[in-house]
Amino acid sequence: MKEKIKVVSVLPNLLGTYGDSGNAVIVSKRLALRGFKVDLVHADLRSGVPSDADFYLIGGGEDGPQSRAAEFLAIDTPLERALDKGAGLLAVCAGFQILGRSFIGPDMAPRNGLGIFGCRTHRFEGPRSVGELVVDPGDAMPGVPMMTGYENHQGITELLDGTRPLGIVRAGNGNNFGPQVDGGVIGRAIGTYMHGPVFARNPKFCDYFLSLVLGHLDPIRDEGLENSHNRLYFERINQVLME
Ligand code: GLN
Repeated sequence: MKEKIKVVSVLPNLLGTYGDSGNAVIVSKRLALRGFKVDLVHADLRSGVPSDADFYLIGGGEDGPQSRAAEFLAIDTPLERALDKGAGLLAVCAGFQILGRSFIGPDMAPRNGLGIFGCRTHRFEGPRSVGELVVDPGDAMPGVPMMTGYENHQGITELLDGTRPLGIVRAGNGNNFGPQVDGGVIGRAIGTYMHGPVFARNPKFCDYFLSLVLGHLDPIRDEGLENSHNRLYFERINQVLME
């Protein structure tokens, strides 16, 4: 078992307006509950983003801060280097958009993204996508049931070659481009429009993400917690699907 697991919350001051930095807390907690020692790093513009961590969590944000984050992450490309070394990465909303090939800046002009995901984000001329989002992962992620999140974005994301969707949208809009799908997956990098924080709402999804890097993980033995979470979770999904 690895001595210490390094978890990085990427630029939470720029990309944390929707509580997505909570994903780094959930990742750290679920590792600690399994007996791992965890080093949780909040990487900002001053500290820079390390490239030697095991897990990277990047969240959503407004158009200005997301462009600033994209410029910053293009210097020295710490995320690409970490992925090459086998790290896992979760990117939510603005985080997902800037890790694609292009996205829209605050001036409405397209900007270069980091190109980790094969996707392009365009500006939707219709209403903003705001509300509950339910995503069905099908059989792609063993052990992960239907997922819920909250979406709030103007961008629409077109998936290109090499990046498959995270799942089929059952309620809400998700990528809102072409077939009704949410997010993108390439290797150990996962993008989604689900805020929540998504790993707090969907712990099985968190565990799947952890297993991408660490291999098989024993379930967490707190049945009371798991059962009460599952009950709330299925009630929430049913409520959204019936609306
Ligand atoms: N600014 C982006 C958009 O509106 C992303 C928003 C978000 O991260 N919630 O599309």
